[in-house]
Amino acid sequence: MGDRPVIGVLALQGDVREHLRAIEAAGGVGRPVRRPAELEGIAGLIIPGGESTTIARLAEEFGLFEPVRRFVADGGAVYGSCAGMIMLADQILDGRPDQRGFGGIDMVVRRNAFGRQVDSFEAPVQIDGVEGGPFEAVFIRAPWVERIGDGVAVLGRVSQGPAAGRIVAVRQGNLLATAFHPELTGDLRVHRFFVTMAAGARL
Ligand code: GLN
Repeated sequence: MGDRPVIGVLALQGDVREHLRAIEAAGGVGRPVRRPAELEGIAGLIIPGGESTTIARLAEEFGLFEPVRRFVADGGAVYGSCAGMIMLADQILDGRPDQRGFGGIDMVVRRNAFGRQVDSFEAPVQIDGVEGGPFEAVFIRAPWVERIGDGVAVLGRVSQGPAAGRIVAVRQGNLLATAFHPELTGDLRVHRFFVTMAAGARL
């Protein structure tokens, strides 16, 4: 028990409960983060799916924007799924004109990239470093990664359909991002991967 890393989940909006449940099941201790003080002592932080503009606005309102931005910039382990991926991007396309993110990953993401008609879909994604075959990935008004910098590793791409080849999972140092929602599938492999990553990143 003592060795289970505490993983915070930014609990402003989005599928917070699902991530907390997945973290507990994947060997971590889940902690909702609504106040800056709750960032203290965590091994890693998850930014959930939801609506990136809303998450950004609430982060400002709760005084969490700057503390989270600093946690990311200081090398904290952070996993962003869907809207969380958008929040971790250094550049956002099709965002609102005033949209802000925490940044951290040297990438350009496009919001709602799969098209507004394509609200949600599932597709298998092979993820580097995650064993056991392709991940049945659930995409909901998802972004994709349009460009990456040299320091960014591509972990997964859409493997079939009109969006085949699009980058949907990346890692840069202690930052991990997926365009899809593993917390909705019951497949814990991405959460286990992140718990291990966060445990290793602990100072
Ligand atoms: N389209 C949403 C956004 O722009 C992300 C959707 C999601 O997280 N499921 O933030």
